[in-house]
Amino acid sequence: MAATPDFYAVLGVPETATPEQIKKAYRKLAKQYHPDANPNNPVASEKFKQLSEANGVLSDTEKRAKYDQMRRLGAFGGMDRGGFRQRQPSGGAQQPPPDFDSADFGSFGLGDIFSSIFGRKGRGDDGGGTPDHAEVTVTVPFRTAAVGGKVPITLAMTDACVTCGGTGGAPGATMSACGECNGRGTISFGQGGFAVNRPCPACRGRGRVPSLRCATCAGSGEQRTERQLLVTVPPATETGTRIRLKGQGPRQKAGGPASDVLVTFTVEPDRFFSRDGLNIRCEVPVTLAQAVLGATIQVNTVHGSKVKLRIPAGTQPGKVFRVRGQGLEKQGQKGDQLVTMKVKIPEKLTPEQEEAFKAFAGS
Ligand SMILES: [Zn+2]
Ligand SMILES: [Zn+2]
Repeated sequence: MAATPDFYAVLGVPETATPEQIKKAYRKLAKQYHPDANPNNPVASEKFKQLSEANGVLSDTEKRAKYDQMRRLGAFGGMDRGGFRQRQPSGGAQQPPPDFDSADFGSFGLGDIFSSIFGRKGRGDDGGGTPDHAEVTVTVPFRTAAVGGKVPITLAMTDACVTCGGTGGAPGATMSACGECNGRGTISFGQGGFAVNRPCPACRGRGRVPSLRCATCAGSGEQRTERQLLVTVPPATETGTRIRLKGQGPRQKAGGPASDVLVTFTVEPDRFFSRDGLNIRCEVPVTLAQAVLGATIQVNTVHGSKVKLRIPAGTQPGKVFRVRGQGLEKQGQKGDQLVTMKVKIPEKLTPEQEEAFKAFAGS
């Protein structure tokens, strides 16, 4: 897994940044790395994804506070996925300070990291507690979000190892209480006057260690897999809209129930349309003659069709026309399309046109 980027560094803001500074930095960078502006550029697309994720956390007060806390504790520094750390059960005195084992953060990418922080429950709870779930942020084009549709995503996820069923033990190995955490599955360590409980890195929060490690997963109890999912985007989806994909997430126990995936959508801005509640706004250029004399123009809708719009003679720049029913639909309510007139003033005139304008000015 690639090192987790620091969200503040991604947005290029100090950790003391105000919400306004974060918003501003995100807008500027999102524009710069927007897929529309960088077609077929995987680097820009990756950067855009990181920006969305960083913004998703840092623009949410609650998530940011949790992120800051984890960051202070070094959770995101040097997160090498080092696999299972070899430990002597009796060698406690020579142990390096317990560092953070990213295994408990899964290998899902950032979404999964946050599922660990914000969503995961019951890990190592052999009593069949709430299964793990995974969280991902999915970026969708504006028009798909507006009218609904499907977007394919690939989730790299960590399932329970099928050989050992997630215990980390080789077939036939015996399990005994973990010496590091005395079978509790968590270790607490104090920092600056408060103690934090973390999953025990020696047993990965399971509380038990095998006499012989599973060869398939090297004792991690996990296997990395990729899953292709077709995510249904509901109509009128907004940035921050969440859906739950039942039974599409990682399995905590091989053969056990698959957990859920929580999807949070980020909607890409569109060059032509913007949203205003259930209404869609757009600007349409009209010629001076059309504005002065009146005309029937064609306007694209977010639904992919074109509608005819009659503009009367004497239409002023900035005038807004309402096209009924061409907005978004949600829970039986339907918005309109609000079309703003952008009157183009001709930059060059033919001599005849110039004469005509002079006559008009003098009349
Ligand atoms: Zn295994
Ligand atoms: Zn332990």
